[in-house]
Amino acid sequence: MSKIPYRTYLEEGEMPKSWYNVKVDMKEQHDPFLHPGTKQPLGAKDLEAIFCSELCAQEVNMTDRFIEIPPEIAEYYLTYRPSPLIRAYNLEKELDTPARIYFKFEGNNTSGSHKLNSAAAQVYYAKKQGLTGLTTETGAGQWGTALSMACAYFGIDLTVFMVKVSSQQKPYRKAVMETYGAKVIASPSTTTEVGRSILEKDPDTGGSLGCAISEAIELSMSSDSIRYVLGSVLDHVVLHQSVIGLEAKAAMEKIGEYPDIIIGCAGGGSNLGGLMAPFMGDKLTGKANPYFIAVEPASCPSLTRGKYAYDFGDVGRTTPLIKMYTLGSGFMPSANHAGGLRYHGMSPIMSKLYHDGYLDEARAVEQTAVFEAATLFAKHETILPAPESAHAIKIAIDEGLKCKESGEKKTILVGLSGTGYFDMQAYMSYTDKTMSDGIPSDEDLAPGLAEMEE
Ligand SMILES: *Cc1c(COP(=O)(O)O)cnc(C)c1O
Repeated sequence: MSKIPYRTYLEEGEMPKSWYNVKVDMKEQHDPFLHPGTKQPLGAKDLEAIFCSELCAQEVNMTDRFIEIPPEIAEYYLTYRPSPLIRAYNLEKELDTPARIYFKFEGNNTSGSHKLNSAAAQVYYAKKQGLTGLTTETGAGQWGTALSMACAYFGIDLTVFMVKVSSQQKPYRKAVMETYGAKVIASPSTTTEVGRSILEKDPDTGGSLGCAISEAIELSMSSDSIRYVLGSVLDHVVLHQSVIGLEAKAAMEKIGEYPDIIIGCAGGGSNLGGLMAPFMGDKLTGKANPYFIAVEPASCPSLTRGKYAYDFGDVGRTTPLIKMYTLGSGFMPSANHAGGLRYHGMSPIMSKLYHDGYLDEARAVEQTAVFEAATLFAKHETILPAPESAHAIKIAIDEGLKCKESGEKKTILVGLSGTGYFDMQAYMSYTDKTMSDGIPSDEDLAPGLAEMEE
């Protein structure tokens, strides 16, 4: 066989025509959402006041293994997909490892991450339902950017509540969203009741993700033609992100490869959930047995140190109760630059797979080690990775070095979820050595964990 290329792409005709719904092949389903007051299970109908109908249906779908990607979404995907499968020849050489390391790179679109895969789907269904507007929150800005691109394309209004400190620290993110026509409001704002009451108590607050979520939900409830959208955690987001895994699997088949190890970073769990989905399907149905590793920051270790319990999805405690690995909805991670990994909980699908032993392992890594890996990767593979993605790179390097020790020629597939162009402040603090790791002590975690029942 001729040499495997640096980059393997799919032809247009080889692109996935459906998303893969891993829940159909799971031996047991995760527990349902519960109403926070009555503690009764919630169905699709109960969620329709907040989310658009088709997404509610997808959220609870446990019967359709494949769900067709509507042609309009497939066509939008063609503007930036397929994403490349990259053989990391240079990194392998640097590590002197017999392992073959592949990265699936999702940063080649203007939003800079995989989040556009679900944004496109969510906006399309909202438009089809005849809604006139969407609203969401954004912290670091990746989700708001992806959504503003999709809203511009499909023609629907978008209001983004951006955590005030982030909108001040990341003016370029805000500018990109505004370029695509989104209305960006620094949160807390005077446009909502919850925002006004927070400002009354603390006029100088920099805001929080929890507050921005509460403002976005309040706006969505104010009109029947506006809905709230979420960029991670939920089952329908993992479903849309399966396009990453399906493409990766098809590309690997083209070059005669199949991964022994699959590694990804996990914030809310959507990029790893999507990358691993079809391979997890193989594992669940006994066709293959790849080893899955989720990587999280030591500063926000929901899988490695959290509790598998019912908890709220937001700090404001407005969402339904979700059964997941969580550090408690009040958990505030110390300043950590990987903004996309600062979430107290984890996708219910990923949580269930981890709890039942199908997602084999979770590892927490420290930030300085992550940036060391990011810098090494950038120098050898030419791509400047997002800090979130660099968590996965760090573990890929560790596994590559293990293969060097053992001489095993393993095939390693890694999720490279985004580009780091918008995170140069974080790279600067690594370079000038002001970066710290901020790992919570057991005493720090105890109060949040104690609040939840098993
Ligand atoms: C948002 C984000 C993440 C974390 O979210 P998941 O839902 O866990 O995928 C990871 N990487 C990048 C680049 C992101 O923007």
